[in-house]
Amino acid sequence: MKIAWFCIPAHGHTNPTLGLVRELSSRGHEIRYFSFEQFREKIEAAGARFVSCDGFGFEMEDKGSADRVGKDIAYAAELLVSSTLALDDTVSAMISEFKPDVIVSDSVAYWGKLAAVKYGIPYVSSTTTFAFNRYSAAYMRRGGLGGLKSLLSMPKANRQIARLREHGYPVKSILEIISNDNDTNTIVYTSRLFQPRSETFSERYRFIGPSMRPVSAPMEKTAEKTVYVSMGTVINRSEIFKSCVEALAPTGRQIIISTGANDLEPGIQAPNVSVFRSVDQMAALSISDAFITHCGMNSASEALYYGVPLVLFPQTAEQGAVARRVEELGAGVMLRSSAPADIRCAVETVLGDDRYREAALRISESFKACGGVREAADFIEECGRRV
Ligand code: UDP
Repeated sequence: MKIAWFCIPAHGHTNPTLGLVRELSSRGHEIRYFSFEQFREKIEAAGARFVSCDGFGFEMEDKGSADRVGKDIAYAAELLVSSTLALDDTVSAMISEFKPDVIVSDSVAYWGKLAAVKYGIPYVSSTTTFAFNRYSAAYMRRGGLGGLKSLLSMPKANRQIARLREHGYPVKSILEIISNDNDTNTIVYTSRLFQPRSETFSERYRFIGPSMRPVSAPMEKTAEKTVYVSMGTVINRSEIFKSCVEALAPTGRQIIISTGANDLEPGIQAPNVSVFRSVDQMAALSISDAFITHCGMNSASEALYYGVPLVLFPQTAEQGAVARRVEELGAGVMLRSSAPADIRCAVETVLGDDRYREAALRISESFKACGGVREAADFIEECGRRV
């Protein structure tokens, strides 16, 4: 089978797909993966043929843009139309030469979905966040795409759509592109238990569980309790790390901090506190008893997979949804502020009550019971055969 794959330039959207790409290519399927130069190596290592989208003037270079796409419908329309038209010639040449049986596209890489619509090719959405509909949208505390601002910007957005129609894309409205419905084949990298309002999604949604990497650089546990701190790879909030050192160094617990995108002043380490720019997160989580996190979908899922309860410090609407769901399932507590006293209190709360760990372990079991990349690959094969 021939598969065309599309993704946005973000690690958090690319990484979860790699295990699935590996599974599909090991089954003998041929994959052309449209992405960006900085991801070439890992995409090729997974067995796909990389196709570069660099140089087409994509604006969507950071998580902020991805977040804005969900909030601002006129911005989403502008972005999806300009990126689709920029890639139009390249994609159309690929379609006529490669003749894919199925298109898999990240849920916000709209140019992939639009190519499927234009050429009548079966489409599968790869959703690395929670699956989105009007019920789960409530978790983002922004009323989904039906808010007043969205309605007001709808005519502007639909004018953009006219440009797509001129280029042969049979699209009626912007909503048809940016929202999936219960007929959309969708792979979601979580479990039905963790997905908010999962009962409102049809069987066309396959909840395959998070994609995990093996531990590659094991870490030593040096205290009875270990606390791992990370704000992911994008967010820049150095003060949280300084507060963590101030709050947690005196506890004598082992503290592992990954600073990611932040520049930290030197000299803040204490004997029980190790500060790294980046760690093998699987190794850190495998020895941790609590995780202070920005609630990126990947980080939260990885920790829960290891049964580690969370101290929740979300910074975006999407992370807020993850945090809210973790809290609702009893596997973590919200951090009120980055003040040392609040950090100490939240950490002691999750460490001091076994129910947080038990709730995390229940979510872990639900992840482990998912069908994983095998189920997803079977599903893509089934979608590719169904014309
Ligand atoms: N990560 C890592 N080492 C680090 C910090 C993060 O390997 O020191 C990985 C982490 O395991 C996760 C990803 O980076 O897979 C972060 O993704 P997430 O969606 O949690 O947050 P983002 O960085 O996209 O905000």
